[in-house]
Amino acid sequence: RDVSGDRPLSRARSHHFFNRGRKIFPSGVTRVTVERQPIPLYIARGDGAYVHDVDGNRFLDLNNNFTTLIHGHGFLPVADAVADLLHRGTCFSNPTEHEIALAELLGERIPAIEQVRFVNSGTEAVMFAIKAARAFTGRAGIIRVEGAYHGAYDWAEAGQSGSPALWGEASRPASVAAYRGTPPSVAEDVTVVCFNDVESLERRMEEVGGRTAGILIDPMPSRAGLITPRTDFLDALQSAARRHGVLVVADEVLNLRQSYRGASARYGLAPDLIACGKIIGGGFPVGAIGGRADVMSVFANDKGRPLLPQGGTFSANPVSMVAGRVAMEAMTEAAFDGLECLGEQVRSGLHDAIDRAGASFSVSGAASLFRIHPKKEAPSDYRSGYATPVENDVTSALSDHFLHRGILLPNGAAACLSTAMTAYEADAIVATFSDFLSTPAAHE
Ligand code: PLP
Repeated sequence: RDVSGDRPLSRARSHHFFNRGRKIFPSGVTRVTVERQPIPLYIARGDGAYVHDVDGNRFLDLNNNFTTLIHGHGFLPVADAVADLLHRGTCFSNPTEHEIALAELLGERIPAIEQVRFVNSGTEAVMFAIKAARAFTGRAGIIRVEGAYHGAYDWAEAGQSGSPALWGEASRPASVAAYRGTPPSVAEDVTVVCFNDVESLERRMEEVGGRTAGILIDPMPSRAGLITPRTDFLDALQSAARRHGVLVVADEVLNLRQSYRGASARYGLAPDLIACGKIIGGGFPVGAIGGRADVMSVFANDKGRPLLPQGGTFSANPVSMVAGRVAMEAMTEAAFDGLECLGEQVRSGLHDAIDRAGASFSVSGAASLFRIHPKKEAPSDYRSGYATPVENDVTSALSDHFLHRGILLPNGAAACLSTAMTAYEADAIVATFSDFLSTPAAHE
């Protein structure tokens, strides 16, 4: 289990695959989020905390498919349950007991979930949560936090990020359609607020609350910096939403992994709707929209046409349902506690390393998540976390340093631990970071 020591990285076979991929995929791969250092590493197999690439290199995987795999790769209980299912059919137009079992598990654990519907991705879950808030309130507007990522639905993307030139005033972040060709009307229905800024949130709520369906909130927005929420911000958000008849829509696609009852419960937020994904599919595609039974009734069609039709060819397919249930059942309260301790060990080890080296770095995150910032202070909103070109070079050098020592550390994104990891892996992460801090690249 050697995860330390600089070593040359053979990439011959990854090069071969990338050259093939380049001929058929725009930019060579099918996801913009695939890391290139400088080319993507093609994976042959995963095994617990580790992945093995096609050139025979082995890496500790802190990406876990963008925080999806809470048990790491090839988790046996999931593999066995799915293998058993494969021979009996993988998708039906009729319902199966498996969807009820996963739904019941989520309903028992997550306080916000009275009723639930399944879809196939986090993007779809957020999309249907927004559409449900609109159908329930009869309003079109959405409020969202600057820089947070909520998937690829146009209204979830507008005002997502952009360069400082597009930001607008700090108290009134600009709402810009995210991408060229997006209808400008999308941005007109989206109001952007700064995370942790109570005053601007309340002012904006006064201005647009009456025409707003929902406020979309990830309790610890990862793309914006994996930022710790201020309690007064979440309290103000909750009460302003109630005052204006705006639904609180929590995006826990990523942060559900923060605790047995999810992230909103952890931070004292009581959302009306919640979007889930990632860990609840046990490594298979999934999304879920849950919430108050009266709000969720917009999906009901037993008495005729629903206010909001929601289907999906592969929604609630038994493979994702069974894999998700088995993965979640293994995430007992004790398993969450174990991950929390391991996360603490990593974060406190990284902090100590920074203090010892007197380096200009900070660490954010909670539970099994962490993110290293090349800044003295951990960010409190998207703007304070925004990386300058020099800082971007530092985070690239950091993730390159890890790569050459056998660890995949996401570049400028949340890293995560899994139940397949132990104190050994935690120590390796901290030691590799300490080692990086002694290099000139850390002090650019
Ligand atoms: N919301 C959040 C907070 C996410 O982190 C992501 C994906 O990373 C999504 C939504 C979109 O989920 P998916 O990639 O499954 O569509």
